[in-house]
Amino acid sequence: MISTEKVPVTVAYGDGIGPEIMAATLSILEAAGARIAPEIIEAGEKVYRSGVPGGIRESAWESLRRTKVFLKAPITTPQGGGYKSLNVTTRTALGLYANVRPNQAYAPFVRTRHPDLDVVIIRENEEDLYTGIEYRQTNQAYQTLKLVTRPGCERIIRYAFQYARAYGRKKVTCFSKDNIMKMTDGLFHRIFDEIGAGYPDIEKDHWIIDIGSALLADQPERFDVIVTLNLYGDIISDIAAQVAGSVGMGGSANVGDQCAMFEAIHGSAPDIAGKGIANPSGLLNGAIMMLVHIGQGAVAEKIHNAWLKTIEDGIHTGDIYKEELSRKKVGTKEFGEAVIARLGQDPEHFRPVSYAQVPDPIRTGQTDRAREVKALWGVDIFLDWEGSADRLGNSLAAIGAGNMELSAITNRGAKVYPGSFPETFITDHWRCRYLSPKGAIPGQDVIDLQASLISAGYDVIKTENLYKFDGAPGYSAIQGED
Ligand code: NAD
Repeated sequence: MISTEKVPVTVAYGDGIGPEIMAATLSILEAAGARIAPEIIEAGEKVYRSGVPGGIRESAWESLRRTKVFLKAPITTPQGGGYKSLNVTTRTALGLYANVRPNQAYAPFVRTRHPDLDVVIIRENEEDLYTGIEYRQTNQAYQTLKLVTRPGCERIIRYAFQYARAYGRKKVTCFSKDNIMKMTDGLFHRIFDEIGAGYPDIEKDHWIIDIGSALLADQPERFDVIVTLNLYGDIISDIAAQVAGSVGMGGSANVGDQCAMFEAIHGSAPDIAGKGIANPSGLLNGAIMMLVHIGQGAVAEKIHNAWLKTIEDGIHTGDIYKEELSRKKVGTKEFGEAVIARLGQDPEHFRPVSYAQVPDPIRTGQTDRAREVKALWGVDIFLDWEGSADRLGNSLAAIGAGNMELSAITNRGAKVYPGSFPETFITDHWRCRYLSPKGAIPGQDVIDLQASLISAGYDVIKTENLYKFDGAPGYSAIQGED
C-alpha cells in the first residue's frame, strides 16, 4: 500500500539561477502529487558571506541529519579566501560516497552528435584529490595529497556493479591512471577486477583515463556504466553531459548508506541568473531520482514522462533551443508550466520511463580481510635545499643513518643521485630515500636520522615512512631501483 504520509525533505534554493530552477522544480513536484514536506534551509553564498566558512549553519545540519534527504539547487563557491566548497563538505560529512550521474542524448529534439549516448557515470565522492589536504613546503614547491583507501574503492566499485545489475545495465567500465599512479589508481583498478569477478553476468573493461575520456567524447555509445575516482569522475561527467546536448539537462544523486543529496550537475550559472531563462531540467532530473529514492516511483514516472513529452514537443529553454529542432523558446517558469500541462501524458518518440519496479536501495558493506603484517623498512626524507644533486648526495652519504643506507635522491620524482643527467631540471624540493638493507627497523631510527640531518643544518620538510606489507613494498619504486 502506498503511504500517503509526506516525507520531510531538506531543500536549499541555492545561488545564481538556483532559486529560479528550484521554484519551477517544486511546482512540478507539487502538481504531480509528490508526497514531500520541504524544509527550507539557507545554504551558500549569503551564509558564507555572513562569516560561516562552510556555507551552511548548524540548524541546517540538524534538518539534514533528521530528514536524510537533501534537494539542493546549485551553490556558488566564492573563489579564493578560506571558503570550503559546501558541496564537498556535505558529501563527506553525510558520507555520500557515490555520485551517480546518468547522461542521455535526447536526439533528434536536442542537438547532439551522439544520438545513442546513454551512459551512467558513478564517481567516488569522498577521497582522491578532493580531501583538500594541501601544503606549501618550499619556496618553489606545493603539494596535495591524493588519498585512496581500500574500503573507499570497495564500496564505490561494488555500488557500480550493483547499480548496473539493478538497472539492467550490461557493462561496467573502470577509468584510472594506474600506469602512472600504480599504488593509488592501481588499488582502484585491482579492486575493480576483484569485485568484478563476483558479477559474471556483467561485462567489464578498463581504460586509462586519458584515452578513456577521449573515447567518451568521441564514441560515447560504447560505454554503459563508468566507475572512476573522484577528480576523473568530476571531469568526465561534465564531458558526458555536454556531449549529450547540454550541461543544463543532467541530474545527479549523491548517495550514502544513510543520507542522500540530489541536485543538477551544473553550477549556479551567474551569467544568466535572474533572467528567468535557465533550464530547470537538471534539477528536475535530480528531483526525479530523489522521488525514486524515497519510494515514490509512480510520481517520478509521471514527471519523467511529462518532461520527455515536453522535450519532444519542442518546448525548449534557450540553452537547447535550435530554430530547426524546437517549436517554442520558453523561460524557466514557462518550461515548468509546460511540464505540468503534460502530467499524465507519455512521450511518443522516446520510450516511456517506468519506475514500477524500483530496485531496493543499494547496500555495499565491506569485505573482511586479514590484516597484513606491516614492517618499517626505511624512510623518504624531504629537504628544502638549494644546490647540486652530487653535492647533496655526497654530504648526506657522510652522515650516519643507523640501520639504513642512503639509496637514492630524487628531485620532483626524477632520480638525480647517484648518477644524474645535467639536463634534469632541479628545484629546491628533494626526496632522500633511506632503506634498510637487512630487515625491519624500529621507528626510533627515523627520528634519529631526522635529528642528525637537522643538526647538520638541513631543512627537513617532511618524512614518509617506507613500510612493507606482508613483505611487499608499500611505496613506489624510484626509477632504476627495485
Ligand atoms: P556553470 O555550470 O554554473 O555554468 C557553465 C555554463 O553553462 C554557463 O554558461 C551557464 O550559463 C550554462 N548553464 C549552466 N546551467 C544552466 C542551465 N540550467 N540552463 C542554461 N544554461 C546553463 O559553471 P561555472 O560557471 O563554472 O560555475 C558557476 C558557479 O557554480 C561557481 O561558483 C561554481 O563553484 C559553482 N558550481 C556549483 C555546483 C553545485 O552546486 N553542485 C556545481 C558546479 C559549479
